[in-house]
Amino acid sequence: MTLESLPMERFLFREVIANAQQVVLSCPRLERGRMLVPSPFLEDLRTALRAELPEEPPSADSKAYLSTREVLLEMGRRLNAEGAERLCPFLSAEGGQEALPENVATLIAMERLRSSREQWSRFDGYLDPLPVEVAEYLRRHADRPQAPSQLRLYVLCSIRYLFRELLGLRRMRPSEPEVPPTLRGTLVHTILERYFREGPPADDLERERRRLAQIAEEVLAPYDAVFDSLYWQVEKERLTAGLTGSGAEEKGVLAQFLELEREFEAFFSGSGWQRGARVEVRFEEGSEILPLAVEGPAGTVRIAGRIDRVDLNPEAGQALIVDYKVGSRAPRVQDVLEGIELQLPLYLAMIPRLFESVEPVEPVGGVYYHLHPFGEVQVGSGLLLQEAAGPKLRGRRFLVESQEAFREALSRAQQAVLRIREHLSAGRFPWTQFEPSQAGCPFCDFATICRLDDSRREEMRSFQPVFEPIPLLPTAEVTGPEEAE
Ligand code: SF4
Repeated sequence: MTLESLPMERFLFREVIANAQQVVLSCPRLERGRMLVPSPFLEDLRTALRAELPEEPPSADSKAYLSTREVLLEMGRRLNAEGAERLCPFLSAEGGQEALPENVATLIAMERLRSSREQWSRFDGYLDPLPVEVAEYLRRHADRPQAPSQLRLYVLCSIRYLFRELLGLRRMRPSEPEVPPTLRGTLVHTILERYFREGPPADDLERERRRLAQIAEEVLAPYDAVFDSLYWQVEKERLTAGLTGSGAEEKGVLAQFLELEREFEAFFSGSGWQRGARVEVRFEEGSEILPLAVEGPAGTVRIAGRIDRVDLNPEAGQALIVDYKVGSRAPRVQDVLEGIELQLPLYLAMIPRLFESVEPVEPVGGVYYHLHPFGEVQVGSGLLLQEAAGPKLRGRRFLVESQEAFREALSRAQQAVLRIREHLSAGRFPWTQFEPSQAGCPFCDFATICRLDDSRREEMRSFQPVFEPIPLLPTAEVTGPEEAE
């Protein structure tokens, strides 16, 4: 065991203790004649339990040293003596599982259902039919506002949603000296929010560079004391490179962002756009703007979220959404078109509400700015009316030809939300319906506990209802995300 693996070992040790009815701990004292140092856990445990653990190893003839075969024989003898009467009726198939102790009966039922090729069971995350108290719990859960990231999780793999969102499971990660990737996203969002709040971008690129550099410096400065390492210096460099100096240097995320912004009118048609007319718009319970309510026969689904930026064209009465994705991966075109990534169409449905007290505004689309920390900053994907696209976006697959098709896409996203609620409330949390590599199984935190059996899953695809994404455009065929997150 190394120092780095200590947190993991601690977690595993806790899991063993918490799940066992009885625990016997032992540790070797000698290896090839050399003294070994006992695990510090034993000492911790002794302190915690105030227990006296034997200090001296038993002698060789005290029968404390048994071979594996002897241990198994001994266990068989004990089982025979203590449990034979209860096991025999089951083994002779003349009794019933009622005759078994409850935990043994559950284990047997679990193994049978887990190998079934005909039905999903509660041991596969399929809770249908629901016990009353679970139904009530799920109903309350479904009544809470959902974030688009949660919906995406359910669409991609429902059992993963069960583990994470309903059971609250998290993988313990050893603390690392590196700057957490989530912080990178927070910093970029904060810097760009301030940039637009201070005023619209001007044409003078040099001036804008200096302005953004100043904001970045102020936002990043407090973290100098938190991350006093080379990692942090590199992180800052990735964000701010090229904001100062001659402009010929390699450009970081923010300098590239400014250059992308300079081409705004090549990406979007029409003039008079007010970039960043609204930034960091939150719609959630308890805030000024309430969540989006999607009404359906089985109840209302409320969607909460935060729109990074809304650009407004007052003359045309149009608005578009810009969402910043900071990281190595952003939603791909088919993630949006196939109804896996519902964020943009749901956010777009909020647009008329955001401006209702001022002027009538219609959404014309939304795009993801992919702010890749190691690569090119670009407009990645989105959902945009063709008439709103400038020359730089012509021919992109995420353009929607007509107003009707665009409205239909937004409506389909809401249908998908209602369908998710229906499946979620019915307790359906089976394995992913996508290919494991597409769903991100190789990188999934729950890969060791979900017990995905690919051949069984394939055989059972149509046995019981499972959620299937609704493509936003009738022509989009669902194939699933191409690569793992
Ligand atoms: S490993 Fe795959 S099937 Fe299992 S929980 Fe993770 S994403 Fe779902």
